[in-house]
Amino acid sequence: MLLKTRGLVTKSVNFGEGDKILTLITDRYGRIQAMAKGARRTKSKLMAGTQLFCYCDFVLFKGKTWYYIDQAEIINTFHKIRNDLARLARCTYLIELANEVVQPDQPPGKLLRVVLEALYMLAGEEGNPEVLIRAAELKVLACAGFKPRLGHCASCGTETDAGYFSPVSGGVLCPACEKVDPYGCRVSPGTIGVMKLMLGWRLKKLACLKVGRHTLKELETTMRAYVAVHIDKDFSSNRFMDSIKNNVTGRLE
Ligand SMILES: [Zn+2]
Repeated sequence: MLLKTRGLVTKSVNFGEGDKILTLITDRYGRIQAMAKGARRTKSKLMAGTQLFCYCDFVLFKGKTWYYIDQAEIINTFHKIRNDLARLARCTYLIELANEVVQPDQPPGKLLRVVLEALYMLAGEEGNPEVLIRAAELKVLACAGFKPRLGHCASCGTETDAGYFSPVSGGVLCPACEKVDPYGCRVSPGTIGVMKLMLGWRLKKLACLKVGRHTLKELETTMRAYVAVHIDKDFSSNRFMDSIKNNVTGRLE
């Protein structure tokens, strides 16, 4: 039986002589593994549409172990992502994160739309890429059930503006509850405010948001700790991004 779905290629592993095993985040079947037979052969009709970041209309059939790709009609390749190493690292991180939180057989709904919107904007060089990637990261986590609590204490629920963030507790802690997690981190109220905007505003609107370097650094550190606690995965894309930042002096925007 042939199945039709739209999907984003979020991982690609070479297999055998000329095949690929892809991970797709599809709008109808959630995260799936799909074999693209012969996709690495130059004359293959599947070659173009099975590259990383390709968003396609797929026709699949289901085998015993995985799906097989019959057709891949390209909607967008996001090829400009590859023109810049920092952009590539950020986008790779985003799809790696999405792969971790999207479940098989569960339509990802809004989560896939957030990832696609972020890729459209990053490929189109809209907005500040660092702001966009932090916002997309927060939105993806929120869609997956990991929305951090920001206006209220994650332990007692009291309304608070305090700047103490506890990854383990899942958000900010009021002064009375700080002792719950000695490994939390001080975060300036401005950074918490930016996180709230990132969760509340659409990415398009966030493209106009001006965020200072200090706030961006704090956001990155806070979110890195938050993701490390809630998502059990060592993101190679983050190590890659760190090495770019350490080796390249100057602007990464
Ligand atoms: Zn509290």
